[in-house]
Amino acid sequence: MTEKNKQVRWVLVTGSSRGIGQAIAQNLAAAGYGIVVHYVHSESSAQQTVAAVESHGAPCRLLKFDVSNRDQTREVLEKDIEENGCYYGVVCNAGIAVDGIFPMLDGNAWDSVIHTNLDSFYNVLHPLTLPLIKTRKPARIITIASVSGLIGNRGQVNYSAAKAGIIGATKALAIELASRKITVNCIAPGLIETDMTDKAPVEEMIKAIPAGRVGKPEEVAAAVKFLLSDDAAYITRQVISVNGGLC
Ligand code: NAP
Repeated sequence: MTEKNKQVRWVLVTGSSRGIGQAIAQNLAAAGYGIVVHYVHSESSAQQTVAAVESHGAPCRLLKFDVSNRDQTREVLEKDIEENGCYYGVVCNAGIAVDGIFPMLDGNAWDSVIHTNLDSFYNVLHPLTLPLIKTRKPARIITIASVSGLIGNRGQVNYSAAKAGIIGATKALAIELASRKITVNCIAPGLIETDMTDKAPVEEMIKAIPAGRVGKPEEVAAAVKFLLSDDAAYITRQVISVNGGLC
């Protein structure tokens, strides 16, 4: 690691090949953070994120692992922090939705959503928590839940369960880490324009959104950037909604 890179605050953004994660990576790069871009399938999009991060002059590296695979995730993260040092921030953003009304929801739809969206909390954060504590420096953990985890959503019993679980886990970990100057917060986006929502009945859903429009990935990224800042040092165990008033 170069002397210059040692002073950089590095942030791992899981699922930064596309959508909200990609916007977070770009926004943080523009703010001067070093970015660990992460993906599992979309290599060319991930390379685009890397190029965008580097265009801001920010240092960057790329990791590939499946957040639902516990052993693989641990192996890749442990190797990365052994070689490069621990991160300042972790944004647990990677996620999927497999929707269907509950009577029709098959076991694979339940399992894949729980494994990817909820088990990933353990899979990503467990290998990192002790190293974060051992740095004895302030740090930030941000999870991305959803309005579905707060109020439930038709056709998303699996997704709502996973996201509600993320909110509980985030609040509990925040209590454990608060005295270590490590804040742990959750962002709960509403309907955001990404690949995940490109088949959603947006016109119908907009009727329930007081702001009268879908959100942009950059609007979620702005909240992440604030929570990572020194100004947010006394904010922990919170869920911040970015949803145009949908609740
Ligand atoms: P997206 O455009 O579909 O992107 C999903 C990202 O997660 C991709 O980078 C993808 O990587 C990664 N990912 C998915 N499964 C993974 C796995 N098993 N291992 C590693 N990475 C994986 O989704 P998005 O809309 O940006 O959503 C980002 C987060 O926001 C998710 O947690 C989602 O639940 C949450 N959210 C989204 C909305 C919304 O309206 N869009 C609302 C509330 C919450 P690859 O490209 O390599 O597959």
